[in-house]
Amino acid sequence: MQPRSEVQRALVVTAHPDDVDFGAGGTVASWTDAGIEVAYCVCTSGDAGGFDDTPRDQMAGLREREQRAAAEELGVREVTFLGYPDGRVTPSIELRRDISRQIRRFRPQRVLTSSPEIAWRRVGASHPDHRAVGEAALAAVYPDARNPFAHPELLAEEGLAAWTVRELWLMAAPDERQDQVVDITATVERKLAALRAHKSQTGHLDDLESRIRTWGLQTARRHQLVEGRLAEVFQVVALI
Ligand SMILES: [Zn+2]
Repeated sequence: MQPRSEVQRALVVTAHPDDVDFGAGGTVASWTDAGIEVAYCVCTSGDAGGFDDTPRDQMAGLREREQRAAAEELGVREVTFLGYPDGRVTPSIELRRDISRQIRRFRPQRVLTSSPEIAWRRVGASHPDHRAVGEAALAAVYPDARNPFAHPELLAEEGLAAWTVRELWLMAAPDERQDQVVDITATVERKLAALRAHKSQTGHLDDLESRIRTWGLQTARRHQLVEGRLAEVFQVVALI
């Protein structure tokens, strides 16, 4: 489908700090360049991640700071952490409510999240937390956030009125569902800057740049872009 032109705000809902930067960093940069206001809702603080010897009790705070710095590289100023435990995310009614709260507060026309399905060609992108967040975010987009009688406390206690999201973008969807290619050749440097801000996750990768460029080239090639271009790809779902 063709993305809508009347998008003013986009909410990105991810499981871990760095998910958006790996999966959609170049795309988010192109959105903020186009004047779209983008906010992040990160369900965990990545407290089970990290490759250095940072004490575990400091990991969540460190990764939150890294995600905020990465967001700044892409022109995103608002980052909310929901505080769910890393590695143990389920699409619970509580998570659906917490994502619905962010949707009703920010009122985005577009939501970007992880696919709830498994992409068998690249199973690493289909981490169980990613799929759980994708399923909860889909339920928050439809029907929870738009139904004033869902999670009634959001309206009754917090004054958050129902809000209808029209467009859902999914990262790491199965190949056969990918239908929206974004050329990130012009924004890949900022994607790399955002990824480097996640020092605890990428600091040990000497080949980060070549990995990201190769991945972008292969994606572009698979979707018949001109040779030499770089791309990210999504499944886009229109919601009435
Ligand atoms: Zn992740």
